[in-house]
Amino acid sequence: MTATVQPPRRLESYVCGGWAPGQKTGATLLDAATGAEVATIDSTGIDFADVLDHGRKAGAGLRAMSFHDRALMLRALGMALMERKEEFYTESFRTGATRADGWVDIEGGIGTMLTYASKARRELPNARVLTEGEVEGLSRDGSFVAQHILTPLQGVAVHINAYNFPVWGMLEKIAPSLIAGMPCVVKPASQTAYLTELVVRRIVETGLLPEGAIQLICGSVGDMLDHVTGQDVVTFTGSAATGQSLRMNAAIVRNSTRFTMEADSLNASILGPDAVAGTPEFDLFVKEVAREMTSKAGQKCTAIRRVIAPRSQVEALIDALRSRLAKSAPGLPADEATRMGALASLAQREEVRARIAELSRVSEIVAGDPNTVTLASGDADAGAFLNPVLLHAAKPFSAAAVHEVEAFGPVSTVMPYDDLGEALALTRMGKGSLVASVFTDDPRIAEEAVLEAAPFHGRILIGNRASAKTSTGHGSPLAPLVHGGPGRAGGGEEMGGMRGVKHYMQRTAVQGTPRLLSAVTGRWLDGAEVRSDIHPFRKSLEDLRIGDQLITAARQVTQEDVEHFAEFTGDTFYAHMDEAAAKANPFFDGRVAHGYLIASFAAGLFVEPNPGPVLANYGVDNLRFLTPVYFGDTLQVRLTCKEINPRANADHGEVRWDCRVTNQKGEVVAQYDVLTMVAKSWPTAAAHAAE
Ligand code: NAP
Repeated sequence: MTATVQPPRRLESYVCGGWAPGQKTGATLLDAATGAEVATIDSTGIDFADVLDHGRKAGAGLRAMSFHDRALMLRALGMALMERKEEFYTESFRTGATRADGWVDIEGGIGTMLTYASKARRELPNARVLTEGEVEGLSRDGSFVAQHILTPLQGVAVHINAYNFPVWGMLEKIAPSLIAGMPCVVKPASQTAYLTELVVRRIVETGLLPEGAIQLICGSVGDMLDHVTGQDVVTFTGSAATGQSLRMNAAIVRNSTRFTMEADSLNASILGPDAVAGTPEFDLFVKEVAREMTSKAGQKCTAIRRVIAPRSQVEALIDALRSRLAKSAPGLPADEATRMGALASLAQREEVRARIAELSRVSEIVAGDPNTVTLASGDADAGAFLNPVLLHAAKPFSAAAVHEVEAFGPVSTVMPYDDLGEALALTRMGKGSLVASVFTDDPRIAEEAVLEAAPFHGRILIGNRASAKTSTGHGSPLAPLVHGGPGRAGGGEEMGGMRGVKHYMQRTAVQGTPRLLSAVTGRWLDGAEVRSDIHPFRKSLEDLRIGDQLITAARQVTQEDVEHFAEFTGDTFYAHMDEAAAKANPFFDGRVAHGYLIASFAAGLFVEPNPGPVLANYGVDNLRFLTPVYFGDTLQVRLTCKEINPRANADHGEVRWDCRVTNQKGEVVAQYDVLTMVAKSWPTAAAHAAE
């Protein structure tokens, strides 16, 4: 019986509300490991200006949602994709990725989306506008103030990705764009677009995203970039050469279209002068370099390309790496025993071999042979396999190529240094990289290495024995951390938690009178309208409005109060207990009340003690004690509802209260935000049921 050969799948683009095959058959994409035909790809016939227009129209729907609505949408989407992950793994093997490589791409990508969904609900308000920083007073009488706000751009985010992470590359970009409220057009690299296309099919099938929030181009984007405006964003991940030419597109230049570039980089890892053979740091370094060379067959923008080691350790290091890499013969990605998969294509293998040839003009190959493939499984002629190749550049300062040529495969170059200053000078010769790492257990080396290398890097990992088991590794970009690097790395910045969301928003300084500014931001600010009727703690979210205010009774602070508090808490700091010592302090005229006593008295003044819609106090923000409180001073509190964030999937929400404590002269003695959880309705459904 002969196995039936499946005809290659014809990839389609998802544009303007439907799936569209190209008008031509297009290029055939081959399985990286077996050479079998997987798919054909073509995008001719698409009107790219229409695609952008369709996306722009969808933007209004996204912008009508709050940050939390959009985050919940992504959470549901992430969970739906996770349920379908096995299908993605099967397709991922065709890209040459092992299961472990696929995990980074598939579950790493979905995990990034889920992280964005939960961080956005924790860190952003349940609103459509984001405020940034404090309100700036611009007039003496408080009638003219200013606030920075961020609102979503009204265009489309065009995301152009590299071939090495067909899932993660898309999801790490669309997550922050969609949280911001911007629709996306995804353009995967052709070579592995069949996996991205499959994931987008599943995304569209869930029906969770409003139509137009995501579109996909399989194949060339044609003249799309000629139609972008100043409200669109283009992000690019790929080679420096392509990125530089796209950045100069006339429409991008003319319209000042935001263009973010994540390009290749010659990432360095430094073995610290203290991390000699026999130390845990030396062993960790060997493990990390070998792992970075072999995971994803070295096709990672963050992989360690330059291995910088003390001259005295170079021989031991090369020996250790050689024996470790010998265990990493490539093989068929779907075989469970395979430790390293294939490069993306035979053409890519030829490309890497050509780069190794360039590197070996200034360095010597010390492990692996680029032209002889030794396999654990598979066919070396049909699959794009390459054994790891380690080079040694004995004179790295004069070997320019090792700091310039990226061999995008399992290839790294070891180079010696004589002191840390030299190691850092070599690191900087990469002219800006995504990531660097330094392996040391010496705090002074860590400090010097990081401070000198930081301006040239977007991320730096310090590896040592204490974090050996918990470290996420040199090569892993993480959703909460910045991914991107200066100079050669493209000068872009992605992710970094909520910073990444702001890349798709415009920051605007808004000036005006507090009442009108408050209407714009949905946040109460000093000078805006207030309402004082019943105690605001008696109001559930159904009734509570920003500006609801309570002015409390006054309370005198006595010496007995302070001494009682000091004894009770054990806080007998001299400024509260010793008149002479307090007077000698430059800030006080005598004994003063504890700051925490002031905050406690304030709570005693503003709380409403009976069971009610305020469910809990979960902290304070920005607490400042501004004026000393002396015995006999009188405190009074003004508590104003500042921000209301109903939770979309719970019976309560967070309420932020502006709390200002003044003395008998009207001076502000303490200022802070009180943070509470408040029921959406009162009595709550649970309280009703209990009755
Ligand atoms: P590439 O050849 O530069 O292609 C990158 C993307 O640009 C692909 O989607 C490609 O589409 C597209 N493209 C090419 N020409 C275009 C044009 N004229 N207009 C619009 N789009 C165009 O890079 P690659 O070979 O896919 O990826 C490998 C490189 O990416 C390596 O150098 C690696 O270091 C870098 N990389 C960087 C990062 C990072 O985060 N910094 C991450 C991964 C990879 P087609 O495939 O259809 O040509």
